[in-house]
Amino acid sequence: MSNASAAARLKRFFGAGDEDAGEGEVAISVRPSHLRVAADSSAERLMEEISSFLLGNRLAVTARNLLVAHSAFSGEDLTLARRIIDRIASGEGVTQDWLDGETPIEDPAGSAKRLTEQLQTSIDGFTATTRSARDTAASYNTELAAHVNEASAAAEGADVTRIVTLAQAMLERARTLEAEMEARQAEAEELKERLARAQRDADIDHLTGLPNRRAFEALFEKNLREAQQQIDQLCVAICDIDHFKRVNDTHGHDTGDRVIRAVAETLARITDDKCHVARHGGEEFVMLFRGLSKTQAREKLDAVRENFSQRRFVNRVTDTPIGQITFSGGVADVFAYANPRDALKAADEALYVAKEQGRNCILSAG
Ligand code: GH3
Ligand code: MG
Ligand code: MG
Repeated sequence: MSNASAAARLKRFFGAGDEDAGEGEVAISVRPSHLRVAADSSAERLMEEISSFLLGNRLAVTARNLLVAHSAFSGEDLTLARRIIDRIASGEGVTQDWLDGETPIEDPAGSAKRLTEQLQTSIDGFTATTRSARDTAASYNTELAAHVNEASAAAEGADVTRIVTLAQAMLERARTLEAEMEARQAEAEELKERLARAQRDADIDHLTGLPNRRAFEALFEKNLREAQQQIDQLCVAICDIDHFKRVNDTHGHDTGDRVIRAVAETLARITDDKCHVARHGGEEFVMLFRGLSKTQAREKLDAVRENFSQRRFVNRVTDTPIGQITFSGGVADVFAYANPRDALKAADEALYVAKEQGRNCILSAG
């Protein structure tokens, strides 16, 4: 389907009469036609519109594109539909980059983090207000207490006694208020602490205690920035446990988990402020080496691999031997690639070659 016919379809869909829309012109009815003629808007027709739109614009048939096309063609997202019409009418064509730019995906982890940050900001404000109110109440109480003592000492007549009684009651209330505020402040501090913990937890892989993939991405960016500024070297490595499925199949998932932990602990032993390891998912780990050349990073990781492969494991539940556990890896020089993603991909390709060459080895990319 050409762009022109895609525009025509969208125009038809949105009820723009052919008679008032000239070539390349866009006329949109405020009320989408599917609302007027629901019966006419069959599932087949919607499917046809979506597939013509994707295929006609050479867009990949991905879940994301299908969702985006669905929201435009079903009339769910009128703004997007209008943008598509405008784009087609301008003759620039609907490319993947353009579509992605128009429909940014909300990263759930990112939005949760933003929410947590917002909550923390409001709690900070609340805590500060409570603290200042409590301080004010405390100094007011001290002052009032002094007055009451004075008045009490000077009290002779019945009226003065009544005033003193009243003031004492007020003082009592103020003290209760102060105690309540103190309790609220403690609650707010605890909530803040819990939020900070939740934020830290979001970056940690629970099985191994290592940073997770999300945290690794942030680490990667930070190290890349620092290495660029300091004109330092930076390498990335990816490791994968060999024949891990066999461990799971023979000894069970729990033993598999313990093996993952053992590899994680071994890799973590060489980490410092210039070497980071994270669990990338499953039985795969990613590493960053700052200040090392690709050869040095490979050698460092290879020494760990060699050491680990000397160990013999036993299933501690059944006491049956598991034997040798090995892992393979690929290392890439980050600055040899256009971006970190390409460097990681190159390391992964080297890992694949290492697997093909018989496993239990670390290879350099390129
Ligand atoms: P290869 O040498 O080619 O890597 O072979 P492999 O058997 O290790 O193959 P692959 O890497 O594809 O297998 C990964 C397996 O790891 C599949 C999955 O069931 C298992 N796995 C993924 N995550 C976990 C986990 O958290 N715990 C356990 N026990 N197993 C996991
Ligand atoms: Mg794997
Ligand atoms: Mg594996």
